Amino acid sequence: MVSESSLAAKRFSACARYHGRNQGVEIMRTSIRILGVATIAAASALSLTAQQAGATQAHKWTIVVHGGAGVIERPALGPKGDAAYRAALTRGIEAGAKVLDQGGSALDAVETVLKIFEEDPLFNAARGAVFSSEGKNELDASIMDGSNLKAGAVCTVTHTRYPISLARAVMEKSPYVMMSGQGAEAFGASVGLEQVDPSFFFSEARWQSLVKQLQKEGKPVPPRPAGAPPPGAAVPVAFYDEGADPHSHGTTGVVALDRNGNIAAGTSTGGLQGKMPGRVGDSPIIGAGTYASNQSCAVSATGTGEYFIRLGVAREICNLVAFKSMPIQQAADQVIHHELEALHGDGGVIALTPDGQTAFSFNTPGMFRARLSEGGQVEVHIYKDEQ
Ligand code: ASP
Repeated sequence: MVSESSLAAKRFSACARYHGRNQGVEIMRTSIRILGVATIAAASALSLTAQQAGATQAHKWTIVVHGGAGVIERPALGPKGDAAYRAALTRGIEAGAKVLDQGGSALDAVETVLKIFEEDPLFNAARGAVFSSEGKNELDASIMDGSNLKAGAVCTVTHTRYPISLARAVMEKSPYVMMSGQGAEAFGASVGLEQVDPSFFFSEARWQSLVKQLQKEGKPVPPRPAGAPPPGAAVPVAFYDEGADPHSHGTTGVVALDRNGNIAAGTSTGGLQGKMPGRVGDSPIIGAGTYASNQSCAVSATGTGEYFIRLGVAREICNLVAFKSMPIQQAADQVIHHELEALHGDGGVIALTPDGQTAFSFNTPGMFRARLSEGGQVEVHIYKDEQ
C-alpha cells in the first residue's frame, strides 16, 4: 500500500530535481508544513470519528410492530380477542426490546419478533396464516438491513417453519435478494432451517374463515388439508375473523432502530385469504411492503398488496423523507391517505427513522400496532380512535 506521506515525498523529490537545490529546500520546507497540517487534520478526523462512534453507541433504541390492518372493530374482536391481541403484541415487542437493550442489532430484533408472531395463530403469518382458495398456506416474507441496503425475500413457501429466517438466509447466505417456492425451501434446508409438514401451519379458525368466505362467494370449498387435526379438536383459536371481510389483514411487520443507529425492517404474511394459488402480494417485495435505509427510514406495510406494489409504498415513504425532508408521520400519511386512497387501496404502515421518530398510518378501521423506545412504556393500540 502507498501511504499519503510516501506519495508526498515522491512528489517532493520530483519537484526538487526540477527546480534545483535551493528551490528544492524551499519546496521541502513547504512539503513538511503541508504534511504537518495533514497529520493534524488526520488526527482530528480520527477523534471526530471516535466521538461520532461514541454518540451513536449512545443512541436510544426504538421498535415498532404491527399485526395487520383491516376492518378491526371492537364488537367483532370482543373483550377476549382484544385482550389476546394486546398481550400478543406486547409479548412480541418486549422480546424485540430485550434484543435491542442487550446491544443486539436492529436486524436481530426484527427477526426475533417476527418469529414469535409467525408462531402465534392469532396472526396471519406462518402458523395462523390464511388459506389460498385451494386450501394451502402459501407464505411470504422479507427483511432489509438499513445499514447496507442488503435485503432478502421469499414467496410462496409452504414448508419452512420461520419464513422470516429464510428471507434472512437469502440475504446473508445467497447471492440473491428473492427466492420462491420449492427452490427457496431447498436452499433453506441446505442452510439448516427447519422444514415442517404444511399441516403445521393449519389453524381451525383460519380454515373455518376460508370455508365461510368461499361459500359466501359461491366458490368450491377444497377438501380439508391432509394432516390437519379433525374438526372440533382443541386448537388455538384466532379471534380475528379474516372471512368476515375480504379486506381484513393480519400480516405482521417490525421496524427497529438499534444502539448503533442502524435501522431494519421485516414483514411476514400468509397473504390474502382465498387468494389464487401462486398469487404474491407486497410483503416480500422490497420497496413495496418492506424497506429500510439508514439514509431515510424503515417501513413495513400491511393491506391489499396489489396497491402497495403499484405505488412502491415503503420506498415511496422513504423517498419523501430523504428527498423532501418530510417528517416520518407526514410522509407516511401522504402515501397512505393521499396516494393509496387515490387508487382506492386499503391498509397501513409502521415507520421509523434513524433518529428515532416513529409513525403509524392506516386508512382502515384498525391496525394491530405497538411501539416502545428505550426508557419508555409499551404503547399498544388496535382501533383508529386510539392515539
Ligand atoms: N399485504 C399482504 C398481501 O397483500 C396482506 C396483508 O397485509 O394482510 O399479501
